[in-house]
Amino acid sequence: MKKMLLSLIGLISISLLVAAEQNKSAFAEQNKSSVSEANQLAESQEPNTTPEKPKFGKLVVDIFDTYTNKPTSARVRLFNYNLTFHKPECRLRIGGKDLDVYFKTDGKTEELFYSPSHFEMELPTGAYNLLVEKGFEYYPCDKDFHILADQTTPVKIELVRWVDMAKEGWLSGDYHNHFDRTAPGSSAEILEILKAEDLKIAYSLVSQIGGQLREVQPKFGKASMDSNDSYYIISGEEFTHDKLGHMAFIDIPKLIEPVGTGARRRTDTKADFPINYLVAEKAKEAGGTVFACHGGAGEFPVDLALGVIDGIEVLQGSKWLRVSDSGKQLLLTPSWYHALNCGFKLPGVAASDYAYLTHKVVNLESNYVYVGDKLTPEAWLDGLKKGRAFMVKGPMMLNFTVNGKMMGETVKLDKPNQEVELKISLRERFPFQQLQIIRNGMIIRDFSNKDRRSNFEYTEKIPVRRSCWFVVRAMSFDPSNPVRGPFFVHSNPIYIDVGGKPTLVAESAIYWLDRIDELIDWANRDAIFDKPEDRKQTLEIYNKAKAFYENLLTQCP
Ligand SMILES: [Zn+2]
Repeated sequence: MKKMLLSLIGLISISLLVAAEQNKSAFAEQNKSSVSEANQLAESQEPNTTPEKPKFGKLVVDIFDTYTNKPTSARVRLFNYNLTFHKPECRLRIGGKDLDVYFKTDGKTEELFYSPSHFEMELPTGAYNLLVEKGFEYYPCDKDFHILADQTTPVKIELVRWVDMAKEGWLSGDYHNHFDRTAPGSSAEILEILKAEDLKIAYSLVSQIGGQLREVQPKFGKASMDSNDSYYIISGEEFTHDKLGHMAFIDIPKLIEPVGTGARRRTDTKADFPINYLVAEKAKEAGGTVFACHGGAGEFPVDLALGVIDGIEVLQGSKWLRVSDSGKQLLLTPSWYHALNCGFKLPGVAASDYAYLTHKVVNLESNYVYVGDKLTPEAWLDGLKKGRAFMVKGPMMLNFTVNGKMMGETVKLDKPNQEVELKISLRERFPFQQLQIIRNGMIIRDFSNKDRRSNFEYTEKIPVRRSCWFVVRAMSFDPSNPVRGPFFVHSNPIYIDVGGKPTLVAESAIYWLDRIDELIDWANRDAIFDKPEDRKQTLEIYNKAKAFYENLLTQCP
């Protein structure tokens, strides 16, 4: 089973970059002709000059949202024919500080900036390309233009929506970002960036390294909420331990301390205590929500078994998250699937972790949560915890139902060997390359899209023998821009309970027992505790979780 999971899960990482490499020179070619045109223009104006200072002209850009009929901020890429990036002085900043905004793949960097709806700048004469984007629900707008000496070049950008998910009851949000909200006016600046990305809800998390808090938040939870025009920013916390894992605390009324443990995170003590479970318990007691960050590392199986985990990050940094098992095998999304295989109804969540990953784009990944007509952050978080959501990176909108039940819900069957009806609907801007239906971690349908259909509607009746869960995932690609990497979408599970029993797969219970044995070894040998009773308490907690999975194992079919 473990081997099968490995191979099936590995399939998602098909080699897309190869095809796209062939397209990389398209822009350069296109721009060569623009360059010669520009040179001709320049020559016709200035026939007798030798050698001369570079000449400049003025660019004036106005960005307009055709959907709202209003000017709008956006994400912008501006470069000239030799692929030199340019940024205007009036780009959006937070608290006077510039943001890093770029995609980076295989050593190639694509620099971007967040722009207000209007900007002007002086540019050297020549040919340019301007790409303006606004989240996943708008078509990008791409324009070539020339800057001529001492002349003004106006460029009007009209952004067109291809889908309005909020109108259909789906709100986009990312609870895992790191912005400094302490500077005066910074909330308004962040909200303008969220608007530029059309990301409706974002949380900003404080974290700690070397005894220092990073991205300090002025308040927490509801008291920290600021909004503008249906965009929201709220503060939370990311607790970190280098081995036991990171956890996002959302909806906490105050900072939960300690914010980090272990030698790298603190200076007052090197102790690996309190362990994650004890800190997560404090966050839960304070009314908070706890998401296991970065794929569920370290202590995740313990915290899951003991009931302090509300969801797990599985899509991040433009890829399915890998978890290193003590430096051994790297797997794709295994923790989540193994958790589901142990009967947990646990949502998977996407999190861009801006700005601590290779790609630095706000709204790199997002969670679309079904909220109906309640377009509020409270409804978004409630839906996210219930798994009424899909995770996405890129312009792919997924819906998935089983017997009419939506993602996060349970289909109850009173007896085995019945059929359930799966319905999948995928809308997207680029034809999907692969779409898979997965049951209990196994790929049961695998569609490659050779005829490059750009939308997918699918219905199938599938027999069910015992309790299980289904998910759907797909990937696509923008061949004109390999630096951006593949696009992903992943549903949350729909659970099938047969005869009231949970899904149980013995291999997954064994998987977690192995991980907990490693943790117990670590607590006995390597972990640093200030007091012997801290080690004792840690081992009691780990052994309690171990007993939980041992008990599950006895119930497995
Ligand atoms: Zn983070």
